[in-house]
Amino acid sequence: MVNVVNEDRLSLVLSEFARTLITDFPIQGILDRLVERITHVLPVASAGVTLISDSMEPHYVAASGESALHFERLQADMGQGPCIAAYTSGNPVLIADLSAETRVPEFVPAALASGLRAVFTFPLRHGDGRLGALDLYSNDVGPLDERDVVAAQTLADVTAAYLLNAQARQDAQAASDRFQHHALHDPLTGLPNRLLLQERLEHASQRAKRSHTAAALLFTDIDGFKLINDTYGHQAGDELLVAIAQRLSGLVRSGDTLARVGGDEFVFLCEDLRTAADVDVVAKRINEMFIRPFTIATIEVSITASVGKAFAGPGEEISDQLLARADMAMYEAKREGTFLRPPVNTMESRSTRDEQHLEGRLRTALAEGSLEVAYQPIVRTADATIAGVEALLRWNDPDHGWVPPIHMIRIAERSSLITEIGEWVMERSCLDHATWMAAVPSATLDLAVNVSVRQLMEPGFASMVDRVLTRTGMAPTALILEVTESIFIDHSGLAINVLAGLNALGIRLALDDFGTGYSSLNYLSRLPIQIVKIDRGFIAKVGTASTERVIAAAVTALAHDLGLTVIAEGVELESEHEAINAIGCECAQGYFYARPSPADAIVDQLRRRAAPLRERVLASSPRPRTTARPERAMSPSTR
Ligand code: C2E
Ligand code: MG
Ligand code: MG
Repeated sequence: MVNVVNEDRLSLVLSEFARTLITDFPIQGILDRLVERITHVLPVASAGVTLISDSMEPHYVAASGESALHFERLQADMGQGPCIAAYTSGNPVLIADLSAETRVPEFVPAALASGLRAVFTFPLRHGDGRLGALDLYSNDVGPLDERDVVAAQTLADVTAAYLLNAQARQDAQAASDRFQHHALHDPLTGLPNRLLLQERLEHASQRAKRSHTAAALLFTDIDGFKLINDTYGHQAGDELLVAIAQRLSGLVRSGDTLARVGGDEFVFLCEDLRTAADVDVVAKRINEMFIRPFTIATIEVSITASVGKAFAGPGEEISDQLLARADMAMYEAKREGTFLRPPVNTMESRSTRDEQHLEGRLRTALAEGSLEVAYQPIVRTADATIAGVEALLRWNDPDHGWVPPIHMIRIAERSSLITEIGEWVMERSCLDHATWMAAVPSATLDLAVNVSVRQLMEPGFASMVDRVLTRTGMAPTALILEVTESIFIDHSGLAINVLAGLNALGIRLALDDFGTGYSSLNYLSRLPIQIVKIDRGFIAKVGTASTERVIAAAVTALAHDLGLTVIAEGVELESEHEAINAIGCECAQGYFYARPSPADAIVDQLRRRAAPLRERVLASSPRPRTTARPERAMSPSTR
């Protein structure tokens, strides 16, 4: 072994290797090149690399030629050999004369028989661990020069660094691929999401310009999907969506896109269409997909969908506008009727019949004027003085007794009843507001009115509000409309337009029940809202050191950064009042301050304006939750 490593050649190999570190060159190609180049700079016949770990059998990953491959395989098969010894000890194993070697008794005779005379192995080190070994094989007896040993260990170290780097790159690529997939697909159904649809739209637009083709969008919304969720639970709702996605996927031709763009909204993007009539064919097929009932869990559910179509002929622009047009068309389709058909268990259940009965009674109650509105004060947290009131619908049916508003609203939302009830609540509360202002002219008081999704999305909603303001003389700046997040999930684009229109009238908007739905903090910055109402679910635990308290504090801080006002809902206890005050929620609402009460009670509260509203006398032992004094009975005579 006279050929001591040539420094120049070694540095050449090292720099060649280093350069590949920053390229996308495949691992295997680089390892193959390395073992081959080593035989040029070091006085050995062949070389190989074996990866070893405690949890895995050794496996060779590179060999400079047939003989190296043979020796690598020998060691891997036997589970014994100099490479394993180097891996285990973490030090080079230098065997200058194999015939005199005793540490690897099984390997020696087999290797000698194949012509090997000397072997030098170097651990692939990284930190305190090892990845395997670099093996150098010689057909002559004799040691490696000390400088060659150093050079070989350097190459082994570089190999280890390279392997780690390549692994990290592979992991990063896989993670990025996964991320990319997640970012562009809906996790529930696996379909492309709105973002990917947007990309495909741009792509379609470019293609259509180049090849002068037409395209169409079909916006499909499941009728009354919310009722499925409410009746059978979210799990069933999710199952239904997956089943729908599967059925609709059957309609997708190559080149088309089916995306899920909202809770129960699916969009088809069809390219290469010839005429607008082709779109009708697709729409018909979509409707046919809903003829057969769906089976979720053990329940058979018949549902329908409303389909809105938008067609862009050759040369016409394909953009977000097309999507907005399809969305509008879908709303038109809903208005024309299908929406009113609720999804029912095919064997119509008793509760559905009860609900239909209740719907009739509710309609009568509205017509006969037996609905009422209660008002719950919203106070300034710092001094518990009244800043506004929230209007809450009340109905005492002679047969059914007290019907919870949530229930009423759900029933009303299944039909146009919600529009009528919503308008009535708005008018009633604006009139009451005018009465209070006349009774206590020095007072300023905000009026918050709840608006349901169906009501807000009804065409002409903003003009209805405008008309009520005019009729009642209500100042738009004193009016707050409360909406829930569900609006943005199902109808984001359109809902934002409607809300922006209301803002333009001078009306403020509150995001109600924040924390119960999808609760994306993103909404807070994206939406034209001015107020966030943190849901009672958080406030109920805010008095203790809890996750809810941390979340409420974080939401409040973020909302303030965005210039929004924060209202804490459902404050029942003094500890909760203190906690939200400390967190910095500027306003609050709850039984701790005042329960909902009839309109006339508000005048008293306004007259006592300077006095803080504390319904309950602060006692040392807190009263149990929700068993507190009920609302004062509503008296129809106050109307
Ligand atoms: P919301 O808008 O979040 O209204 C607050 C609800 O919390 C009211 O329930 C109120 O009575 C209750 N609440 C207030 N303080 C406390 C408290 O300290 N503890 C507890 N446990 N509850 C408290 P309510 O009146 O039953 O109304 C329920 C929901 O019905 C409302 O929730 C709102 O989403 C809806 N709603 C009520 N009136 C209308 C309406 O006129 N139109 C529409 N679209 N929805 C309405
Ligand atoms: Mg509300
Ligand atoms: Mg609420």
